[in-house]
This record gives sequence, C-alpha cells and structure tokens, in this order.
Amino acid sequence: MKAIILEPLKPGTADYKDVPEPEISDGSILVEAVAAGVCGTDVEMVEGKYGWAPPGKSHLILGHESLGRVIDPGLTNRFKKGDLVVGIVRRPDPVPCPNCAVGEWDMCRNGLYTERGIKQIDGFMSERWRIEPEYAIKVDPSLGLLGVLLEPSSVVAKALEQVGLIGRRSFWEPKTALITGAGPVGLLAALFAKLFGLEVHVLDRLKSGPKVDLVRDLGATYHSGSVKDLDFEPDTIIECTGVGQVIGESIRKIASNGIVCLAGIGHGGSTVSGAIADVASSAVLRNNVIVGSVNANKRHWYRAAQYLARADRAWLSKLITRKVKPENFKDALNRHEDDIKVVIQFSEI
Ligand SMILES: [Zn+2]
Repeated sequence: MKAIILEPLKPGTADYKDVPEPEISDGSILVEAVAAGVCGTDVEMVEGKYGWAPPGKSHLILGHESLGRVIDPGLTNRFKKGDLVVGIVRRPDPVPCPNCAVGEWDMCRNGLYTERGIKQIDGFMSERWRIEPEYAIKVDPSLGLLGVLLEPSSVVAKALEQVGLIGRRSFWEPKTALITGAGPVGLLAALFAKLFGLEVHVLDRLKSGPKVDLVRDLGATYHSGSVKDLDFEPDTIIECTGVGQVIGESIRKIASNGIVCLAGIGHGGSTVSGAIADVASSAVLRNNVIVGSVNANKRHWYRAAQYLARADRAWLSKLITRKVKPENFKDALNRHEDDIKVVIQFSEI
C-alpha cells in the first residue's frame, strides 16, 4: 500500500510511496482510509521541525486527523464492516502516570505519551490502517466525509468541558462566549457554543470572506477589530490564536468570574501590555480563571462525535475548503488564502 511518510526532523523527506501493510499489532480493526485532515502540526513536521519516528525506525507515517471505513472488524462485535471510524490520536505513557492510568492521557503528567502520526506511532495517511477497538470512535454515517472533522472537534469538546467544570465552582450562568481565531478549531468552538445556547462572538483579522460568512450563517457575531475594543465583557473566551496581544487583551476583557481558555499554541510575539502583577490583580479581583487545554481523551472524542452528529451538514461542509489527492499532498500543505480545513482524500465516500 501507499502512505505519506517522512523522516522526522529532516526537511524535504516527505513522500507518498509504497510501505508494508499495517501490522496486526497496530490494532485488530483493519480500516480503509477515506480522508485525513491537514493541520499546522503536519506542516511543521514536513518542514522538519517536529515529530518522532517509532522506536527502532527511521520513518513515520504522517497524519493524525483521520476518517476511515472498516474493512475487517476483527474479533470485536462493537464494529462492523463498512462502519465509518476515526482513530484516537494519543496513547497513554508506559509508566503510566496517574492520569494516563485512569484514561486521561490528555492530562499526561510525564510527557511520555505517544501520538499517532506525530510521536512514535505511525499515523493515518496511508491507504489502510489498523486501530485497537478501544481507540476507534464510530462516526454518524450521515456525516460522511465530515467525520474527518472529529479530531479538531475533540480538542474543542475538551476545552468547553474544562470551562464548564471550572464554571461550577460558583453560581454561574454564562451567556456570552468569545472565540478568538476563526480557523477550524475556532469555528468548531463557535458551532458547539451555539449548540449550548450561548450568544457567540468570533474575532479574527479578516474583514470578509468565507470565515466571516460562516460565523454569520451560524447566527453568531463576527468582529474584526481587537479584543480590547469590544463593547461587552464575555463570560468565557476560547482563545485559539496563540497570539500574545490577543491573549493579553482577552485576560483583561473577561467578565467577572469569567474563564479564559487558552487553546492556541503560539511562539514569542509582543509582551503582555502591562506588568504581570497588574494582570494578576485584575484576575484576583474578578475571580477569573485562565486555563490551558490541549488534546482530548475518549470522553471528549465521544462527546465531539455527538456534537458533530447534531450539527448542520451544509454548514460543516463549508469548513472543508479543499480536497487533495494523496499523490498531491504537498499542495495540501501549502496554505491558500481562503483555506479553512484541507483534507487529503484517499477513497470515495
Ligand atoms: Zn501519562
């Protein structure tokens, strides 16, 4: 079979080429790939900036945003031939730490977890892949190709769960949510926040285009200015840009008792405007919580599949802006201006 494979940390080594069939040790369910989503991590890996090959191997199959069709369910009776499934990305560390021991690999304490397509386990950008029944999530068949959005949705489901859990520390009736960043994660966060009945605002730099239209089609309000100029104080902010200035302004804009959830990963940038003690004082005096959230465990994947199943298919389908054949994967990695989610499509659905 063919796969998109690379030598981690070596730029220019990514190729679509013949590899051996997936090994039974990867999992008892054999899956035919339908599609794999492309995200910034994949781009960084192809550029040689990130990634780990499996122990004893030089190469890693890329891809962590999966969608496939079961060819052979193996001995499990929870899946049958033809089911659409997505593979969970992270696996618990081998020690395991207390969190991994109870299935919270998203909260791993020692960083020794592994991740398919990123860290020491082959990913999903191959014509066929295998998965363990306990790490396969069934997708509503009516979602079709849209099931490939489950991985970013799981990240959002965790972030929103964290906000909800923290909110319960006091009497809290959130009405407004601000999402900063209208990429796939931000737009999915806006969608799910709407499903929860919140008044949703999305802020990004663009003044027009498909992202702006998607926000409006959702019945949410789009803002293209800065967070500090907003004329309301959000009860929660889901920060998806990773941009220093946006983070700093979000921490200062959040309402009393409000929660800022940091879900974006950035580097460097401008310093927070104002001394850290001033920012902290404002958080103290207004009972704010600033929480980081990464990855997702099985509970979040399951919830995300439920949320996606309830979402409007026409709206969701506009998130997938390009479908690229695996032999043209390099084109999928090149960002086009109006890209939201680009997927590599391995087979028809
Ligand atoms: Zn762990």
